[in-house]
Amino acid sequence: MFPTTIAGSLPKPAWLAETGKLWPEWRASGTALHDAKRDATLLWLKEQEAAGLDIITDGEQSRQHFVHGFLAQVEGIDFEHKQKIGIRNNRYEALCPTVVGPLALRGRVHETEARIMRAATDRRIKFTLPGPMTLVDTLADSYYGDRVRMAFAFADLLNQEARALAADGIDVVQFDEPAFNVYLAEAADWGVAALERAAAGVNAATAVHICYGYGIDANRAWKDTLGDTWRQYEAVFPALATSSIGQVSLECINSRVPPELMALLAGKDVLVGAIDVATDVVETPEQVAATLELAARHVPPHRIVACTNCGMAPMGRHIARAKLQALAAGAALARSRFGV
Ligand code: ZN
Repeated sequence: MFPTTIAGSLPKPAWLAETGKLWPEWRASGTALHDAKRDATLLWLKEQEAAGLDIITDGEQSRQHFVHGFLAQVEGIDFEHKQKIGIRNNRYEALCPTVVGPLALRGRVHETEARIMRAATDRRIKFTLPGPMTLVDTLADSYYGDRVRMAFAFADLLNQEARALAADGIDVVQFDEPAFNVYLAEAADWGVAALERAAAGVNAATAVHICYGYGIDANRAWKDTLGDTWRQYEAVFPALATSSIGQVSLECINSRVPPELMALLAGKDVLVGAIDVATDVVETPEQVAATLELAARHVPPHRIVACTNCGMAPMGRHIARAKLQALAAGAALARSRFGV
């Protein structure tokens, strides 16, 4: 009961990339960069093991950004002429590459990371990919002219990579869809269907992570506009409940999400955010356990996985490490209270 995992990303060490940034510049290039990414991946695998986490990730150490790591292997995109566009419904502006032709994968995207992980640990391992709707929302388009058509084209590429990751020994393939919390009607209308296309036939557990973003100023300002209760999940959870996706990762601690919305995910494993990534204050095991107990009022306890609200990429390393330990200790405390 209450196995532990994280949403996905972890801070990059200062010798790998700039710290405290969502789009950090690498510190090295060529073979030295390749080695530094591998070293950082191994380091975080061991940190997660040492903290006592059950389902561990590569901390996204090998990609500059959670979306652009995947895009780097996609044909049909012009990366040279980036356009400044508003993303996440104009919450922020970003310099985005443009889709200029039919999308196709050049080859494997994350085989190196998956193989490093599988060889380095006996624990269950999870790999994160951006979801189709979030990919579409992070690009300019001068070819498809239709968000839905482009999302399904991306879903096919994601499916190709997800199936290969499962064959590499990945136990959980997770798609990150922060866009689901922004385009509520579209998420229910076609976002979930595109996600199912991405996850179809993948020989691993499948998950989707839906959040209110990293702990950066633009997200804090956005959250302040959302009112006293955040009911965005209510729009998409019913569609997810009847979907083929097995697990849903959501925000809980310190959020204004009404916990009863978790009950809309009947039949799914629920990754409950019990660690806040928007503050450097480290949760106590008691707070983590209380969050899991709150979730257990709405979700069968055997379906609950203790998780973080979102990725920890922009955080200080020592804070992230302490939060991993708090997560594991809090889940152990909750387990003991449930008599397990
Ligand atoms: Zn997130």
